[in-house]
Amino acid sequence: MHQQTSIQTVKEDPLNIVVCVKQTPDTAATVIVEDGKVSWGDAPLVLNPWDEYAVEEALRLKEAHGGQVTAISLGPEGATEALKQALAMGCDTAILVSDPKFAGLDSLQVSKVLAAAVKKVGEVDLLFFGRASVDSDVGITGSQVARRLGWPALTLVAAIRSVDPGAKSISVERMLDEGRQKVSGPLPAVMSVVKEINEPRYPSFMGIRKASKAEIPVWSAADIDLTEALEPAVAWPQVNMPPKVDTQCELIEGGSAEEIAQKLVDRLVEEKVI
Ligand SMILES: Cc1cc2nc3c(=O)[nH]c(=O)nc-3n(C[C@H](O)[C@H](O)[C@H](O)COP(=O)(O)OP(=O)(O)OC[C@H]3O[C@@H](n4cnc5c(N)ncnc54)[C@H](O)[C@@H]3O)c2cc1C
Repeated sequence: MHQQTSIQTVKEDPLNIVVCVKQTPDTAATVIVEDGKVSWGDAPLVLNPWDEYAVEEALRLKEAHGGQVTAISLGPEGATEALKQALAMGCDTAILVSDPKFAGLDSLQVSKVLAAAVKKVGEVDLLFFGRASVDSDVGITGSQVARRLGWPALTLVAAIRSVDPGAKSISVERMLDEGRQKVSGPLPAVMSVVKEINEPRYPSFMGIRKASKAEIPVWSAADIDLTEALEPAVAWPQVNMPPKVDTQCELIEGGSAEEIAQKLVDRLVEEKVI
């Protein structure tokens, strides 16, 4: 059985933490596909649920060590709502990275933009990601950003065992299908987290008030020194809904339970189910 873990703290060494968050449709939303194009209709947009775990873990580390947590989102103006949710949970600062140049990017280009934004933040110790975003579910953005920054990537993290900002080291547990794996590495590092890592807090009343008044700076491509054209390598020209399954209900009647069971078996054989 898995033992409850707690973060071992090495105090007096504040951490500068960044969390990348995306605005996504609510998980209850149904995707609409028309002419191969995906839309979420009028579904409410929220902070990507996986990213709530990343924000929560970043806040816990800050509470243990001191320091600050910055939330960054790449997206249109409306993505400030996701950033406000992160601020309401307790992040100190939020930054929207937005530019007409950034529309329709693939994850490789998204990683270039996010890495440039993280560099502009300055000396960062830890960079958090959710394991995937619930809408397009590519699941590799964090690793791609790690590659661009030249930092180690600790993926599918289910527990942080220890962080030592002085010694610049971190030790975590990764959640695999086969079990848990201990991994250690140097800081700065990139981490993607799974939902087993914590229980995200609800924003406090004070947090919501603070977030509603917050002025969120917007960084353009020029602000993060991205002057070159960003050409996505991957296209998604068509998306299909899963085929509709027709179901029919048939009541099997009969006298005794044995007769009904026999009729059921005959029908299943007829339909080649057994
Ligand atoms: C139908 C469709 C299919 C697509 N297929 C592909 C594909 O096959 N390959 C491909 O490269 N791209 C694809 N894309 C584009 C892809 O959705 C975007 O590049 C996206 O920004 C990155 O993928 P993701 O959102 O699935 O991120 P993931 O890699 O699943 O997200 C992991 C984490 O990265 C962070 N993150 C992701 N996006 C942002 C952001 N904008 N701002 C801040 N943090 C972020 C969050 O912490 C998130 O939890 C597709 C898009 C659509 C609409």
